[in-house]
Amino acid sequence: MKDQNSGSFTEGAGSTQAAYIDNADVANFINGQVVASSGQRRQDVFNPSTGQVARQVILSNAQDVDAAVASAKAASQAWADTAPIRRARIMNQFLRLMNENADTLAAMITAEHGKVFTDAQGEVARGIDIIEFACGIPSLLKGDYTEQVANGIDNWTMRQPLGVVAGITPFNFPCMVPCWMFPVAIAAGNSFILKPSERDPSVSILLAQLFKQAGLPDGIFNVVQGDKVVVDRLLEHPDVAALSFVGSTPIAQYIYERGAHFGKRVQALGGAKNHMIIMPDADIERTVDALVGAAYGSAGERCMAISVAVLVGDVGKKIIPLLEQRTRALKIKDGMNLGAEMGPVVTKDALARIENYIASGVEQGAELLVDGRGYKVDGHENGYYIGGTLFDKVSPDMTIYKEEIFGPVLVCVHVNHLGAAVDLVNRHEFGNGVSCFTSDGHTAREFARRIQVGMVGVNVPIPVPMSWHGFGGWKRSLFGDMHSYGEEGVRFYTRQKSIMQRWPENISKGNEFIMPTM
Ligand code: NAD
Repeated sequence: MKDQNSGSFTEGAGSTQAAYIDNADVANFINGQVVASSGQRRQDVFNPSTGQVARQVILSNAQDVDAAVASAKAASQAWADTAPIRRARIMNQFLRLMNENADTLAAMITAEHGKVFTDAQGEVARGIDIIEFACGIPSLLKGDYTEQVANGIDNWTMRQPLGVVAGITPFNFPCMVPCWMFPVAIAAGNSFILKPSERDPSVSILLAQLFKQAGLPDGIFNVVQGDKVVVDRLLEHPDVAALSFVGSTPIAQYIYERGAHFGKRVQALGGAKNHMIIMPDADIERTVDALVGAAYGSAGERCMAISVAVLVGDVGKKIIPLLEQRTRALKIKDGMNLGAEMGPVVTKDALARIENYIASGVEQGAELLVDGRGYKVDGHENGYYIGGTLFDKVSPDMTIYKEEIFGPVLVCVHVNHLGAAVDLVNRHEFGNGVSCFTSDGHTAREFARRIQVGMVGVNVPIPVPMSWHGFGGWKRSLFGDMHSYGEEGVRFYTRQKSIMQRWPENISKGNEFIMPTM
């Protein structure tokens, strides 16, 4: 747990290692060791609640990537040859250590990201879900088999690891999003290089240390801190077979295109603008409870946050007054304060970006019901705080409707019927998450069938799929063919091999020139 006064972390429950020492530079983890990067450039890592520099991260060079890839490559064959059940046993130990250190991880997240501690605990728990899923790798890797496809011939398929794979992750889930990737990739027999966000990089090192402590051989999980320099080297490195990316859409598209250019397998998850359609028959109190949490939780810095409420028919008359009241009453405090519902946003730049969006909404004629700009928290005057912000009468041509704001700003759009709501959502360039609140089964069914979005909730505001179902949006929210984790994740990190086998009797039949038919 983080001690707020000293700013240092004590050991997590059951942890046998010092988890983290404040004010130290955040370095790399290569070949089982924390190693200094060769980079000369540094970037400040802030505590968003105070606005103070907590530490610095050293931004790595291409040669640090090369060292990590070399270590990963050297270790990968032996790991691929390790029986899946043995890999799963190490994963089980990692699962135990993650559970023991969950609160330490959560406190580290709050300290660098700003989200409230209980929400950070939830993030860690959802990451742990994927590790639990990866423990089942022996059955996930089972192939299929057809006996006697022709006389004396059997045919089967199996899935083999790709070798060295890499993941590039965003700031908003420094634990959970890496966990979407590396447990599945590693359980499947690959070695992995993680390039975390430079804004909250510390958690990545503890993940690597815990995995090593669980018995993972050196070189299988590496962390290289940095920015575009590291990403570009990973993209072009001939020994990196696949890249998983999660972040904003322009970078996702860049990674997808560059990765394809270099012949790599790529899955690149991008940005979002998630709508909640509220039907006139929805349970108003429950809908408002769900909407306020989904719009303002984690200060709106979730790729599955609801940022547009689509109010159908006359439901706006009932919803808007309640929303306004609840938005004004949000408890916004330092994330380690257990009374907080919302903490600060991640950086000063993010705060300025969000405030600019609010100004543009006003300029373009939306009705600003609650203005979060200029929000101050006592004792944290330099923190990156902004209050919950609520716009009504927003139209689809406004910038605040079209673009991802990634902050605690909820916009309300009014439409006459379900068909118009579905068309509105389907016309948007993003298609990550969506939800519909209704008490009518037919409405729910029609909505779920017609909506052009990858993750759909019916009376569920943030429909993040469970670990065995896989996560991914549609349209410009995902570039690539496969979703993250779940069985699609296993397929992404493995390739199929089909084997045909015959053990003929020892009688030669002469040359076989004719195309075999079964
Ligand atoms: P970002 O795109 O700025 O950064 C993501 C990663 O890309 C970081 O590791 C960063 O270092 C790297 N990067 C940044 N600029 C780069 C460049 N020019 N070239 C190469 N690499 C670069 O995203 P962010 O601000 O860290 O995260 C927020 C974004 O992530 C939002 O758009 C959010 O919707 C999205 N997100 C999407 C999902 C999803 O599942 N679809 C999940 C979480 C976050």
